[in-house]
Amino acid sequence: MGLKINQNLVNDNTGKALADLCPFKAISYENGKLDINAGCKLCKLCVRTGPSGVITFEEEKVELINKDDYKGVCVYADSDHGVIHKVTFELIGKAIELAAVIKHPVYALLIGDNCKENVNELLSYGVDKVFVYEDKALADFDMERYSNCFADFIENIKPSSILVGATNVGRCLAPRVAARFHTGLTADCTRLEMKENTDLVQIRPAFGGNIMAQIINPNHRPQFCTVRYKIFDAPKKVAEVKGEAEYRTVKPEWLKSNVEVVEIVEKPKELDISESDVLVAVGRGIKTAEDLEMVKELADLLGANIACTRPLVEANIFDAKHQIGLSGKTVKPKLIITLGISGAIQFVAGMKDSGCIISVNSDPNASIFDVANYGIVGDIYKVVPELIKKLKEAR
Ligand SMILES: Cc1cc2nc3c(=O)[nH]c(=O)nc-3n(C[C@H](O)[C@H](O)[C@H](O)COP(=O)(O)OP(=O)(O)OC[C@H]3O[C@@H](n4cnc5c(N)ncnc54)[C@H](O)[C@@H]3O)c2cc1C
Ligand code: SF4
Repeated sequence: MGLKINQNLVNDNTGKALADLCPFKAISYENGKLDINAGCKLCKLCVRTGPSGVITFEEEKVELINKDDYKGVCVYADSDHGVIHKVTFELIGKAIELAAVIKHPVYALLIGDNCKENVNELLSYGVDKVFVYEDKALADFDMERYSNCFADFIENIKPSSILVGATNVGRCLAPRVAARFHTGLTADCTRLEMKENTDLVQIRPAFGGNIMAQIINPNHRPQFCTVRYKIFDAPKKVAEVKGEAEYRTVKPEWLKSNVEVVEIVEKPKELDISESDVLVAVGRGIKTAEDLEMVKELADLLGANIACTRPLVEANIFDAKHQIGLSGKTVKPKLIITLGISGAIQFVAGMKDSGCIISVNSDPNASIFDVANYGIVGDIYKVVPELIKKLKEAR
C-alpha cells in the first residue's frame, strides 16, 4: 500500500505543481525527477487534487483470513516453578464469558513439569480442555523453550483468542509468540468483549488514561492480549469437572535454548499491595514524610498495608511498589481508605473496583468522591487522629 509516481507523466509543469501542493513539503522536483520523502503523511492531497494520474495510491491486496478456521478462547496458564499464578483463574472466568458469546470452547495452555495437579486445578474452574506440554526441561520458565511449545499449540490447535496474565512471565512470552505469528497484541487490557464474528474487543486506557481505546484485530488470528492481576474476578470452581487434558508431544529440538540457568535465587518476599485486603492510601494531602506516622498508626490498627499516589513515589517518600494506578498496581481490597487524594483518572483506574472505598479530602468537589462509598470532607490532620481515637476506643 502506498503512493506511486508515474514518472512518464512528470514534466516541469506537473512536477513544480505537485511540489508546491504538498502541505508537508514531502514532494521534491529536481532535475526533471519527482520524489516523495519520509515526511509524507499519506494525506493523499496530491492524488486527489494534483495533476491527474501523476501520483496514484495503490491499495495492497489483503488476503482475508477465514475466521472459522480458528476455534477456542485460550488462557495461558502462567506457571513458574510449578505454581500457577492467580491471574490465570481470573482470566479463565473472563474466557468462559467471552467463549459463551461465540459458542467456542475454553482452553488452557499449560507448560511445565509434573503438571497433573495443575491440570486438575485448571479443569476445576470449568476449562473444556487443557493442552499440556510436560518435560523436565520445562520445569522452570525458559523464554525460548516455552515459546516453541506455545507456537506448536497455535499452529496445531488454532485458537481464536489467547488471554495472558500481565506477569513478568506473561509480558515476556506473549509478545514473542505474537510476533512469530505476525498478529497483534494489546497489553494491559482492562475490559474485554467478544463480537459475534469472533473479533475480541480489547479495551484499555490510552493517552494517559484520558480515553478508553477499543482495539480489534479484524484480519489476524490468534488475537493476543495481556491483562493485569486483579482486573477480573476468579470464577467459582465447578461442581462437576467435565473438561479433559491433552498431553502434547514435546520435540527435543524445542528444548534447545541459548539461556543457561545457573542458579535460581528466590527474591525475598516483598509487599504486594495487590494482595492486601485492607489498604490505607495516601496522597499529596500529606505535607511531610514525618506526618506519615499517623497514617502508619491508622494502618496498624486496621491491619492494613500503606499505598500511595504517584507524586509520593516521585518525591521519594515511597518506593514504587506502593503506587496504585495506571502506571502502578491494580488493587481490589475489601476496604481502602484514601487520605488527601484528589482522584485523578490514572489513580482511580487502579482501585475503583475495591470492595469499600472511604475517602477523606478537604475539597468537597474532589473527584475521588465520585467513586467513594463513604466520603469525609475534612482535613486529614484532624480526621485521621479522630479515626485513630475511635478505633482505640472501640477496642
Ligand atoms: C501517563 C500518566 C500515568 C499516571 N499514573 C498514575 C498512577 O499510576 N498513579 C497515580 O496516583 N497517579 C498517576 N498519574 C498522576 C495523576 O494524574 C495525578 O497527578 C495523581 O494521581 C495525583 O495524586 P494526588 O491525588 O496525591 O495529588 P493531588 O492531585 O495534588 O491531590 C491532593 C488532594 O489532597 C487534598 N488535600 C490537600 N490537603 C489536604 C488535607 N490537609 N486534608 C485533606 N485533603 C487534603 C486536595 O484537596 C487534593 O484533592 C499519572 C499521570 C499520567 C500522565
Ligand atoms: S500524500 Fe499528502 S503528504 Fe504525502 S506527498 Fe501527497 S500531499 Fe504530500
